[in-house]
Amino acid sequence: MIQLYIPLNFLGVIYREIKQSLADMERLFALLDQNREVADSAGATPLVTHGARVTFNHVGFSYEAKRQILFDVDFTIAAGTTTAVVGHSGSGKSTMSRLLFRFYDANAGAITIDGQDVRAVTQQSLRAAIGIVPQDTVLFNDTIEYNIAYGKPGASKADIVAAARAASIHDFIDSLPDGYATMVGERGLKLSGGEKQRVAIARTLLKDPVILIFDEATSALDSKAEQAIQAQLKEIAKNRTTLVIAHRLSTVADAQQILVLDHGRIVERGNHQMLLAANGLYAQMWERQQARPDEALASPAVALEQ
Ligand code: ADP
Ligand code: MG
Repeated sequence: MIQLYIPLNFLGVIYREIKQSLADMERLFALLDQNREVADSAGATPLVTHGARVTFNHVGFSYEAKRQILFDVDFTIAAGTTTAVVGHSGSGKSTMSRLLFRFYDANAGAITIDGQDVRAVTQQSLRAAIGIVPQDTVLFNDTIEYNIAYGKPGASKADIVAAARAASIHDFIDSLPDGYATMVGERGLKLSGGEKQRVAIARTLLKDPVILIFDEATSALDSKAEQAIQAQLKEIAKNRTTLVIAHRLSTVADAQQILVLDHGRIVERGNHQMLLAANGLYAQMWERQQARPDEALASPAVALEQ
């Protein structure tokens, strides 16, 4: 009994850890090819997008019955535009992206893409439509080529190279003795945070999704690497419906819409100028970050949280 319990419990812990990380989401589904939390509804049809307008319609959510995480979250991302979500660590930002990817189902309200409830479409089509550039990209213990091609199984070498070029990682790969056949990951060549992010960007470019999620995609980088990658993310986001979960406010200032999340509620919304003029929480966070630019908003150590 005990012998059985321990490994199962251990697996449970790993599963939860993985589930927490957007980085591993797509991989997890590939491994399990199913999700324990949600299932295709009877008669689920493939998602059909035309521009991909994303709507959270009065969404409420809790992981555990006793603790509500999101309250009446209500907004629309117009097709092809960028909405940024900012807020303190633990305010529920990543939870929003997990719901959009349908890792969990909302327990109040609905999330729709071009009018289709995410619960009514096949998970396979939903996940094919969404690309994620996570905070910490996990590389498989395989070749760099495999790691990029993962974005689009069956991609041609030419497509892979084109994606790597667009992500500014081709020259680096080309300079390696084994080129695209270089083993990376835990047991291979260790890539820097910036290089890993570029691989993730190449992967996403290859996948060519209509919807993008950047979950604090550049928070693991120093500010120079961040600036370079930020410019690239902006390029990818062009004409795609994009949800940016932001770490440093400087990265969201030009989003069409900014949502300020506080304890699971949207407390302010607007563009950068409007929010500064409103002189509320966003303006306060902005001021603090201007004073201490290296301090990350989402860091638990930030004084904002007090
Ligand atoms: P953010 O991304 O804004 O930092 P999250 O969306 O990750 O915040 O988390 C919001 C809240 O939900 C936090 O209090 C966190 O502890 C809680 N939470 C996150 N994942 C789980 C989970 N799997 N089970 C229970 N609570 C969770
Ligand atoms: Mg988060």
